[in-house]
Formats: sequence, structure tokens, C-alpha cells
Amino acid sequence: MKRIVYLLLFVVPVATAQEWPPELTEVWDPEPRMVTPGDGTAPPSDAIVLFDGTSLDAWESARDGSAAKWIVADGAMTVAPRTGDLRTKERFGDIQLHIEFRTPAEVSGEGQGRGNSGVFLQGRYEVQVLDSYGNRTYSNGQVASIYKQHLPMVNAARPPGAWQTYDIFYRAPVFAPDGEVVRKATVTVVHNGVLVQLDAEIQGGTTYTGLPKYEPHGDGPIELQDHGNPVSYRNVWVRRL
Ligand code: MG
Repeated sequence: MKRIVYLLLFVVPVATAQEWPPELTEVWDPEPRMVTPGDGTAPPSDAIVLFDGTSLDAWESARDGSAAKWIVADGAMTVAPRTGDLRTKERFGDIQLHIEFRTPAEVSGEGQGRGNSGVFLQGRYEVQVLDSYGNRTYSNGQVASIYKQHLPMVNAARPPGAWQTYDIFYRAPVFAPDGEVVRKATVTVVHNGVLVQLDAEIQGGTTYTGLPKYEPHGDGPIELQDHGNPVSYRNVWVRRL
């Protein structure tokens, strides 16, 4: 202890950085725990698997909490139009989310009507899913936009019918006891390996009309949108941060 006090009081202020003992700037505690990384298809060892291609057990109807009604086939879950959004039974705060999606190979509709779905963080903040391959719409509503708040830096869309990936890094908003926003939510999105949103500051719920505003909330589900188009999802996993 005496030696540490001596170091702090005397050596540190007097010595230049080059003369510091290297041990002075080493951090040993805590030691990051071991996680076995995924191999491209398998998730990391500490991930919560939300869809492994076989069952909708982790999901429920966002309308009323009843059983999820989307279609599971060929390792994918597909929107059954007009059955409503799905949400996870589990609730989350800060997360890393991996999700793969596919807009219909058979193109129908245009603009917002073509391959529209969405990934809602905490059930409120939409990372848009859309067929944006040769399908112009408003930029803050195309694929990988934070709906009506942030356009993606670039359009990294794959063609209709191709599987695409989102890796989403999300920090939940923080509210004071009186409901005031202490820190806005932020999100980083990697679309097909391309960084498209970096610490984008979410301004409130992503609504179709009007300006976004915050309503205080706690942990929330991950919600997938039924926008009437048969968009598919697979290989969905999440890590709590
Ligand atoms: Mg949408």
C-alpha cells in the first residue's frame, strides 16, 4: 500500500509518461469472461437463440400474447399476412441482435408495399425491413433506415429472394423517475456486413405520422412486423449487453 501511495504522490506527477513502469497502466481485474464465438451460422456461446429454424416457442402474437401464427418451413419463419406482428416473450434492454431476413423472390408492389416488414427494438423503435433493391422510396423509410428518423449511410440491399443479415447493437434509452429522458437510445446497424448506422440517436417511437416522441418504458420485446408482405426470417439470436 505504501508503495502505491508513493507511486501516486511522487513518481506519477514527476515522471514523464515514457518513464512510467509499464505495470502502472495494466488492468488485470476484471478479466473478461470466455465466450466461444460463432462460426458464421452458429451463434456465440452466450447468445439467446430466438429462432433456430424449427419453432416459434420464443414468440407470441404482439396483439394479445396468443400463440404465434406465422409459418415455419424450410428453416425459416414467414409472415402470415394479417395475422399481426410477432414479439419475443422475453424482454430486453441493451442488446446485440443478429437476424437474417429475405424479401419475396416474386416481386409485387412498389415503394413501401414491396417486401415491407421491420425489426422493432423494445417493441417501439423500427429498423426497417424493405425490398430496396431497385425500389425507390423515401430514404428514411428504405431498408436499414431507422424508420422516418435516420437514413442508412448506403444501400447494401441484396436482390429480392436473397437472404440478408442485420447485426444490430442497441442501447436502450434511460429515463428519470419523472419520465424525463436522461439518455436517448442509440443504435448501430451492420447490413450484409456493411456499416449503415453508427450510434444513430433515436428520437422516440418510430411512427408513420407525426414527429417521434419518447414515452418512458422499461425492458421490451423484439418485435417483427406484419406489413402484409410474406417476408421471412431465420437464424435469430440475441446477446444481452
Ligand atoms: Mg416496416
